[in-house]
Amino acid sequence: MTRVLVTGAAGQIGSALVPALREAYGEAEVLATDLHPPAADTGPFAVLDCTDGRAVAAQVAAHRPTVVFHLAALLSAVGERKPQTAFEVNLGGLFTLLEVARESRFAVFTPSSIAAFGPSTPRDGTPQDTLQRPTTMYGVTKVAGELLCDYYHTRYGVDTRGVRYPGIISDSPPGGGTTDYAVEIFFAAVEEGRYTSFLKRGTQLDMMYMPDAVRAAMEVMEADSARLVHRNAFNVTAMQLTPERLGDAIRRHLPDFELDFDPDPLRQSIADSWPNRLDDSAAREEWDWRPQFDLDAMTDDLLRRIRERVG
Ligand code: NAD
Repeated sequence: MTRVLVTGAAGQIGSALVPALREAYGEAEVLATDLHPPAADTGPFAVLDCTDGRAVAAQVAAHRPTVVFHLAALLSAVGERKPQTAFEVNLGGLFTLLEVARESRFAVFTPSSIAAFGPSTPRDGTPQDTLQRPTTMYGVTKVAGELLCDYYHTRYGVDTRGVRYPGIISDSPPGGGTTDYAVEIFFAAVEEGRYTSFLKRGTQLDMMYMPDAVRAAMEVMEADSARLVHRNAFNVTAMQLTPERLGDAIRRHLPDFELDFDPDPLRQSIADSWPNRLDDSAAREEWDWRPQFDLDAMTDDLLRRIRERVG
C-alpha cells in the first residue's frame, strides 16, 4: 500500500501533483503539507516547515508515508533575492527530511532543475552526466541536493529518486522562477491580448507542460529500481521554447496577440547560464520516460483551461 506525504504541496507543482496522487492512491493516503494551506484543496492537510526536524519526524510518525514527494523550496529568482533562506530551505530542508527517511525508511522524490547546470555546462544536448558549476544559490542547492540524495542511497540505502525539471508550464501560478514568463504569457494573452516578456528575444530554455511533470514524478517513483542506474536527477524535457515560439503558438488561437520585450537583468542572467536543450536519454532508457505534450498540444489545452476559468 502506498501512503504519501507531500512537502511544499501548495506550490505550482504540488497543486497538480497532489490531486493526481489522490486519484492514484486514494484521498486519505495522501497528506499535503506546506507553510500555508493550498488555495483550492480540500483533502488532508497539515502545516509543516520542512526545516523543522521535530515537526517533520512527528508528521511522519503520524501519517507513516511509504513515499515523500519533497517539493518545498525557494525557486531561482526568489533564491537570488534571499540566498541565505534558499540555502536553509532547499538544502537544510532536504537534509532534515533525508535524516528522517534514514530512520523511518520511506522513499523520497526530490526535484532538481536545469538550474543545477551552469555557464560551463555544454548547452546543446546537455548530457545526463556533465559539468555542473551553477552560478545561482538555487543551482548550488540543487547540485548539492542531487549529491545528498545519491549519498543517502549509497550510504544508507534510502530509496531516493528524482528528476531535473525544466521550466514547468501550468494553469497554477508559478513560484518565482526564471521560466515564470512561460506561464504568465498564457494568462496575459487571454486576459489582456498582450504580454511583455522579462526574458529577451531568442532566449531558449527547456520546458514541460504540467501533466507531463506530474507523470514524470509518479513514474520515476514507480520504476523498477533494478533498471535505475542514475536514480536521482534524471534529465527530463518535453520542448525547447523561446518567448517568440510561445507567442507564435498562442497566435494560432489569438491572432491579434502582441508580444514585446523588457528584459529583467537578474532573470535574464540566470536564463543565460542554463542549457538550451537537455539530453533526456537516460530517463528514456532507464524508466521509459516519454513526454506526451508538445508546444501545440500544450497551447490548445492550456488556453482552453484558462478561458474556462476566466470566462
Ligand atoms: P513553488 O514555489 O510554487 O512552491 C514551493 C512551495 O514550498 C510553496 O508553496 C512554499 O510555501 C513552500 N515552502 C517554502 N518554504 C518552505 C518550508 N520551509 N517548509 C515547507 N514548505 C515551504 O515551487 P514549485 O514550482 O511547486 O517547485 C516545487 C519543486 O520543483 C522545487 O524543488 C523546485 O525547485 C522544483 N522545480 C520547479 C520547477 C518549475 O518550473 N516550477 C522547475 C524545476 C524544479
